[in-house]
Formats: sequence, C-alpha cells, structure tokens
Amino acid sequence: MQPNTYLIIILVIIAAEFLVSLTVSLLDYNYKKTPTGKQTIKKDYTKAKNYLRTNIKFGITKAIVDTATLLAIILTGVFNTLDIALRSLAQGPVITGLLFFATIGVAAFIIDIPFSIYKTFYIEKKYGFNKTTKNTFLLDLIKSILGYALIGAVGLSIILLFFEKAGNLAWLYCWIAITVIQVFTMFIYPVFILPISNKLKILQDGPLKEAIQNYLEANDVNIKMNNIRIMDSSRRTNKSNAFLAGFGKNKRLVLSDTLLKNHTQDEILAVVAHEVGHLKMNHLPKKLTLYSIETFLMMLILSFVIRGNNFFLAFGVENISVYIGLMLFGIIYTPISFFFSTLTNQLSRKYEYAADHYAAETTTPEAMASALDRLGSHNLTNPTPHPLNVFLNYSHPPVKDRIERLK
Ligand SMILES: [Zn+2]
Repeated sequence: MQPNTYLIIILVIIAAEFLVSLTVSLLDYNYKKTPTGKQTIKKDYTKAKNYLRTNIKFGITKAIVDTATLLAIILTGVFNTLDIALRSLAQGPVITGLLFFATIGVAAFIIDIPFSIYKTFYIEKKYGFNKTTKNTFLLDLIKSILGYALIGAVGLSIILLFFEKAGNLAWLYCWIAITVIQVFTMFIYPVFILPISNKLKILQDGPLKEAIQNYLEANDVNIKMNNIRIMDSSRRTNKSNAFLAGFGKNKRLVLSDTLLKNHTQDEILAVVAHEVGHLKMNHLPKKLTLYSIETFLMMLILSFVIRGNNFFLAFGVENISVYIGLMLFGIIYTPISFFFSTLTNQLSRKYEYAADHYAAETTTPEAMASALDRLGSHNLTNPTPHPLNVFLNYSHPPVKDRIERLK
C-alpha cells in the first residue's frame, strides 16, 4: 500500500471513531423513556438525566479536543520531528523509545489535567459527589504519574527489547510477558497497589459482620471474613461501590464505606452475594482469558504492521523503529479494540445478570432489586440509556433491566 492510501485509511478510522461516539452521545442525550424502576429511581430521574447530559457535553468537548490534537500531530509530522531530535542523543533504540513515549505521555497528561480538574471540582461537585480536596487530588495525580511511569517503563522496555532482539517470534514472547505481568499485577493489586491511595480495613464486629459470616458459611463460599475489606472511598466521593480483586491468598471482596453508609443490611448482604456469584462462576478468570486472546491477536497484528515502510511514511516518519511502530499501531488499532470491547461488554453484562440471579437465589430477589435501585439512584446512573449505547459501551446492564430480570 502507498503511504497516501495508509494516511486516508488512518484518517477515516479516526473520523469514524469520533462520529460513532458522537452519534451514541447524541442519541443518549435525547433518549426519552420513562423509567420503570421503583420509587427512588423516579424521584431522582430528572437529576440523573441532568447529570448525564452534563457528562455528555463534557465528553463531546473532550473528544473534540483529543481528536483535533491527534489530527494536528499526524498532519504536522510531530512524531518525525520528535524522533529526529531524540535520535540525535544517540542512546540506542530502547532508551530513545522510552524517551519518545515519555514525551508523548507527559504532553497527553498535561492536556488531560484541565479536564480532570473540571470533572472533579465542577461536575462531580455540582451533583454532590465530590469529596476530593485539592491536596488529595494533587497527591492522586502524582501517584498516578509515578505509577504510569513505572508500569509504562517496564512494559515498554520488555516490548522494545523483544522486538529489537528476538527476531520473528518477538510478538509471541511479548504476549507471554504481558500475560504474566497482567496476572501478577492482578495478584498483587488489592494488597500492594490499591492501598497506595486507599485505606482498607476489616469489617468491625456487629450485626452486619455476623450476617455476612452466616451467609458465607451457609453458602459454602471460599472466602474468609479477613478477605472482606472496607475501603475509605468517602474521602473522594459519595458514590457507592463493591468489587472483587486479586486471587489466591490475595483475594479481596472490597466494599466502599459509602455502600455501608447508604444501604440497609439486607441490601449490603445482597451486594456481597452478587460479588460471591461472580466468584463462584469464575467470571474473573474467564474475562482474563478473553483479554489474553485479544493481546495475542494485537501482538500478532503489531508484528506485521511494524515492518511496513509506507505505514511509517503515512505519518511523515522517515526512520522505521519499533517504538514509533508501537505508537502508530495504537492509533490504527481502534477498530479492532472497538470490536473486542463490544464483545467483552456483552459478556460482562451476561455475567452481571448471572451474579444478580445468584444473589437473588441465595438472599432474596427483593433485597437485590432494592440494592440495585438504591445504587442506581444514589450514583445517578443513567436510568434509561439508549440501547445502542448499552450494546457498545455498557459493561453493566441498565439498572432498570436488571431489576426487571429479578421479578
Ligand atoms: Zn457485578
């Protein structure tokens, strides 16, 4: 393929991505459907719709800025200028590659900061969610910079080294290395990474602890009370949350302190049961397998793309290198990743229904429905998202659909 043909395909991909997300946002913005949930949802319906619309406007603005920046970078040949400048330092392909990604990463981070500030201190604050102080925000920002820098440097070094040194099977070694790192990160996440920014406490003695303990024993659940942790989410937000993380001895069922504050004991127990459902049906390993298949295909495609001279020229890049190949690949990978995320979302929604069903059977359908109802209305989840948006982007089914399934 000629460089210009590549360039046209790349521009079409970027435009298509932008237009699809814009269409979905506009459909959602104007989608009117009366919610059929219980009382709390109806009461907060207008507020939820307003929150949604504010977020949609914010999302569209961000998408315009991001797409315009990307187009400007491609069309003005910034990648090439930066590459030539870094090559003049003569530090070898791996160091040059790391510097290249670091420069792009820092620029992207700076562009994102105003959006992040606006989202946290204007939108979330306006709707009463934000609890983050300026100090916490700044500290979180620094921690995430260091975290990304560390993970990015290790991950990139591995990929760059393999592609520089390992010949034709580099993509396969990369896939194995990435999978090992992914599983390892999952393993240490709840015990070493999550506590960097959050405090995780064990549940205090009391009726709730007793109820959960009885539930775990009655249903033969392979998780100890010690593995159930309460996270101090209320330092940042009013939203409630619960999730499973890690595996083996690092397995944790995390409940936000906001969940404990806002819900009745029966509802909390139903939420715990829902997470137990995920655990019993091995949803996490199954999802991980799917991610791993995606990474496999991604590395395979990358190994083809990275060799094409004209592919680099389409972006105005004169010298072929693994690191720029990686960056450019990230840009054209969108349609494939879009396909995969639609697939994983569909699977994820199926798992949510299954976990709800499990919770309803081991507690009561009423408790699960009531928990979902309150979670949805309290977190101002969009009660009536457009079906296309659900199909493409929702990892969890809309609350109203989940409640209806429980009946
Ligand atoms: Zn779930």
